[in-house]
Amino acid sequence: MRVLISACLLGVSCRYDGASKPHSLAAALARCHELVPVCPEQLGGLATPRPPAERQGNRVVTRSGTDVTEAYCRGAAETLRLCKALNCQAAVLKERSPSCGHGQIYDGTFTATLSKGDGVTAELLGSHGIRVYGESQLEELLK
Ligand code: SF4
Repeated sequence: MRVLISACLLGVSCRYDGASKPHSLAAALARCHELVPVCPEQLGGLATPRPPAERQGNRVVTRSGTDVTEAYCRGAAETLRLCKALNCQAAVLKERSPSCGHGQIYDGTFTATLSKGDGVTAELLGSHGIRVYGESQLEELLK
């Protein structure tokens, strides 16, 4: 199966702080599936590093209050475009991110408080029938 994956989980230094979040099972996943790495925030035109941002309802804002919703939505749309063009049936996304988060994201107060919800990209992919997994569910794709 062709599977979209958050590039930071493969060790790409694309996070807001210029770091990556390599996952120990990413290599095993690559042996079972054809992986398509993407970073929606970079696809949306944002720089790396960049200011941290969180969702506040349908908006995405930085800690200093800059509205970056347009870039996050552009990144989500471009990620969906890739997903469809390459016929990806599932996506493994970095949890808690305002783009990639699945099920739980930071609540928009910049106090490290989690609340129920999805990142902008995870929400868009899910609404188009792509099966979205957080990285803690990655093992389900190894069975
Ligand atoms: Fe990783 Fe997604 Fe954030 Fe890019 S947007 S750094 S892929 S969590």
